[in-house]
Amino acid sequence: MTDPIDMQAKLKVLSDAYAAQLPEKIRQIEQAWELLPRDTWDEENFATLHRMVHSLTGSGKTFGFALLTDVARNLEEYLKSLALEKIALNEQQHNKLQVLMRELHQVTLHCNSVADDNPQLVVPASGEAASPKRIFVVEGNHEQAEELKVQLSYFGYDVGAFNNLADFRLAMQANPDVVVLMDVTLSGSSQEGIELMKEIQQGRDIPVPVFFLTARDELAIRLEAVRAGGIAYLSKPINIGNLIDKLDTLTSTLPSAPYRVLVVDDSESITSYCATVLEQTGMVVKVVNNPLDVMSPLLEFTPDLILLDIYMPGCNGLELAKVIRQLDAFISIPIVFLSAESDLDKQLFAMGLGADDFLTKPIQPQHMISAVTSRIQRSLVLRSFMVRDSLTGLLNHTAIKDQLDREVAQTKRRGMPLAFAMVDIDHFKHVNDTYGHPAGDRVIKSLSRLLKQRLRETDMVGRYGGEEFAVILSNTNGETAQKVLDAIRHDFSQLRHMADGKEFSATFSCGIADVSFFGDSTKLCDAADRVLYKAKHAGRNRVLLGDAPAVSGTDFV
Ligand code: GH3
Ligand code: MG
Ligand code: MG
Repeated sequence: MTDPIDMQAKLKVLSDAYAAQLPEKIRQIEQAWELLPRDTWDEENFATLHRMVHSLTGSGKTFGFALLTDVARNLEEYLKSLALEKIALNEQQHNKLQVLMRELHQVTLHCNSVADDNPQLVVPASGEAASPKRIFVVEGNHEQAEELKVQLSYFGYDVGAFNNLADFRLAMQANPDVVVLMDVTLSGSSQEGIELMKEIQQGRDIPVPVFFLTARDELAIRLEAVRAGGIAYLSKPINIGNLIDKLDTLTSTLPSAPYRVLVVDDSESITSYCATVLEQTGMVVKVVNNPLDVMSPLLEFTPDLILLDIYMPGCNGLELAKVIRQLDAFISIPIVFLSAESDLDKQLFAMGLGADDFLTKPIQPQHMISAVTSRIQRSLVLRSFMVRDSLTGLLNHTAIKDQLDREVAQTKRRGMPLAFAMVDIDHFKHVNDTYGHPAGDRVIKSLSRLLKQRLRETDMVGRYGGEEFAVILSNTNGETAQKVLDAIRHDFSQLRHMADGKEFSATFSCGIADVSFFGDSTKLCDAADRVLYKAKHAGRNRVLLGDAPAVSGTDFV
């Protein structure tokens, strides 16, 4: 994220550049005004004049020139009223326009490099608190503490276990961002853990998240636990799947890729402004100044949201929105109109075209950031319902296959390595039959989490079928993929699952194919499937890598 000071400096540069361009803009407006014939209604030249004035209304205050926006708006309102009549201007109307034009000229003389109202940007407090992945376990029973530590570490958590309270207090002072798992009874006294946490919470502005662990489930103790900042109350023996679910939610361990925004506006000052403001929050911004050039950036950049100006020469934003929405891939992309248009009917019309929001220029940086962020977040959630599996949150069968098609095509173009793995839980039918379907579901979830947490962000994991998963490891050859998945296989086999107080474990088998041996994604997928079958027959609980196919190219494994 850009430094706010740096950001302020960038806005100042933009504001100065804007002020420097103003005399030329005014000259063009005056020229358009002089070109207007006195005796007839000239629709085209009038529209040009209107568009240029409208652009000042929107941009002036954005760059710190509030007075310019006010004067331009007066002029624009008057132009609008004349445009309704569409007849040659009479003497009185002509004179009034003359006065308004002169006012505009006057005010721009005072818009020098020092803006009257410097654009301010207060960087919003970062929404994502530093996500604590560090866990402190305070558990009177040493064996239970060690067991929790081992189990949590399989899911990528860094765990410290304490049985000495003085050490714990010291460690808490040194590490503000942790989650505490606290045994309620500790050395046997009924609520020692709760009292200890109350004491620790007292000196803090932001309470430490605490999960209380207890063998006794009583309302009175639960109440005290809540008072001590407890956000979960877990009964022993601890259900690891349930605990990880809660920890994952709390620490939201999955970082999301930066948001991508396409800004379409004929004014370069406005597009630079939007880019500067949005980029400082870490977003990636692509700018288009000629609306007729939008197609290739749209298809190549694949934005998460489009910020679209309404008044542009050649094609207006409302028309462009219609065209974009007719493309299958962009049917649901959020479109936010960015315009000086304050007319309610126009806004409603834009909304009717499926606009997600309407931001009126001048637009405050914070307002733009929050509108864009919330629209993107909402659309990503909606999109995830379409491509994600509901039990695990992984890509669903169709989505992972689509992704594989894309990745294989890209890999072939660039000559990069790629491995594809099929993973299937062993004897899963037995798990369901013995421990019940809900326990089976939890095993599926725990494997999905383990895969997500242990693979790189660039790898893709999908739920291919019931207890079957597909993994795309980009930029990875078969041998490396085999090592990575074998380490995950080992850790998965060590996980303890719980059902009705009974503990059990599960294993998986995996087949891997390397893209260098296969021409397309279907062949790659079939190959991985065949190796998986081989792994099952060789005794399960193993990760096998397929050999290069025979020279004929068809006979593999
Ligand atoms: P193998 O080691 O050969 O893979 O044996 P398996 O028992 O795992 O394989 P099989 O294909 O015979 O059984 C898979 C079972 O997975 C059958 C099905 O009922 C169960 N299953 C599929 N989807 C789900 C699910 O979402 N939840 C649960 N709990 N079970 C599921
Ligand atoms: Mg414009
Ligand atoms: Mg199976």
